[in-house]
Amino acid sequence: MYDLERIIIIGGGPTGLAAAIRLAQNNKLSPIIYELRNPGTASLGGSLGIPANGVRVLHRLGLWDSILPRSVDIAKNVVHSTSGSVLNEVDVASEAKNQTGFGYIRINRVDLVQCLRDATQEYDIPIHYDKQIQSIDDLGDSVTVTFTDGTSDTGSLLLGCDGIHSSVRRIHVDAEIAPEYSGISAISSIVDDVTNRDPRDTTSLHSTLTPHGMLATAPCAANQIFWFFSKEVPLPQGSGSVDVRDGWMLHRQNELADCRNSLSNVLDCVQGKWGKYLRQLVDASQDVHFYPHYRIPLGGRWFVSSDNPQGSPRVLLLGDAAHAVQPHAGQGVAMALEDVILLSGLLVQYQDGDHASLQGVFDRFDQIRRPRIQRINEVAMRNGRMRRNQSPWAVWCKEWYMWTMLRINRFWGMSMSGVLNGDVLYDVEKELKQVKPTELN
Ligand SMILES: Cc1cc2nc3c(=O)[nH]c(=O)nc-3n(C[C@H](O)[C@H](O)[C@H](O)COP(=O)(O)OP(=O)(O)OC[C@H]3O[C@@H](n4cnc5c(N)ncnc54)[C@H](O)[C@@H]3O)c2cc1C
Repeated sequence: MYDLERIIIIGGGPTGLAAAIRLAQNNKLSPIIYELRNPGTASLGGSLGIPANGVRVLHRLGLWDSILPRSVDIAKNVVHSTSGSVLNEVDVASEAKNQTGFGYIRINRVDLVQCLRDATQEYDIPIHYDKQIQSIDDLGDSVTVTFTDGTSDTGSLLLGCDGIHSSVRRIHVDAEIAPEYSGISAISSIVDDVTNRDPRDTTSLHSTLTPHGMLATAPCAANQIFWFFSKEVPLPQGSGSVDVRDGWMLHRQNELADCRNSLSNVLDCVQGKWGKYLRQLVDASQDVHFYPHYRIPLGGRWFVSSDNPQGSPRVLLLGDAAHAVQPHAGQGVAMALEDVILLSGLLVQYQDGDHASLQGVFDRFDQIRRPRIQRINEVAMRNGRMRRNQSPWAVWCKEWYMWTMLRINRFWGMSMSGVLNGDVLYDVEKELKQVKPTELN
């Protein structure tokens, strides 16, 4: 029954690092991480928002003390019209804090990864960098991974935490599933905040919807500001369907230049102090990054039967490798962290003899996670559509609606929370309590 010990984790991003920590901490297992890139490339990825459901998991992983000084606590989202006036102020944290004890934070990806890496050291979890996988052999009672440098490793379980372009998925689990483009891309940058803002503003997000995309800013720790311009961008000509990443790499400079031009036109239309402030930020930006937003289509496999019919599957996808959603729900990291807590809890039950095999564990994992991922995917797609090109009239109607709602809600003294819903109150540990033992052989 209890045949787990050495756990091979492919990918040292948020999912792989969090999985390693949790499995060492909660299951007393021995994880080992293999990462494709070298340690210096953790700087990829800009700034991330993590809502209450994800912050709760960071607490449970024991990371709060290291996350706190590197993150900012966000209180509200201020929505501006293109004329620069404030249309609406949406409280993004109070209700979640009241109900769960956790709010909404923002943290740079580089800092999140560093906090997680520091924690792996506390548990003596080795991380091997510059490792590219070549093949995976699932023998039913163990799994062996071979790398392109000729080395290999064998463990009792392999977790594919290697992100949206996962090699574990392509080589072993589900070669038919490929990331699909959402139609939306963004340019963004993190800059030192040179303006003398009102100190209360260091807890606010700001955004404006325009006929040609959405502009937004978010505070980061260390007096920096993250801004992005998110808009509809067609797939580049000739990118084909073979390797979308190569298509974007070839065209990235053109796309970046086009986005910058279109940003400049959009900025000309945003007026008032807010418009001026945005212009200042964009002008001060040195490194501007371009990200086309992809997602993994729903319905793909997260594990496959073992090559040995007598054995149990030994390879499972987690995080973006299994179910990347386009980033417009701001739930990518939280979904990955929930995966980790659920898997670890199910493995504790397996270690206690409540499930006959890893097949039972993986089946339960799949049943519990699918509906949640589907729901978050729908939210992300709906939010993404807001960024598509639309007529000035459509934008005007939306602005008018938001302005009216603000006044009506104020008149009735109602909460301004527009984002609170079950998604951020969700507690994955509650699911675990309802899991019944699978039939023992
Ligand atoms: C522009 C943008 C904005 C986003 N904003 C937010 C946000 O505000 N909030 C939020 O929660 N989420 C956001 N996300 C999503 C979030 O970044 C991901 O959901 C999250 O990083 C998933 O973590 P992961 O570890 O599964 O994958 P990744 O972060 O992609 O990490 C995968 C790791 O595996 C490594 N790897 C890849 N291939 C291999 C291989 N073959 N072998 C070994 N290692 C490999 C990679 O180098 C990387 O270190 C955003 C994403 C984008 C693109």
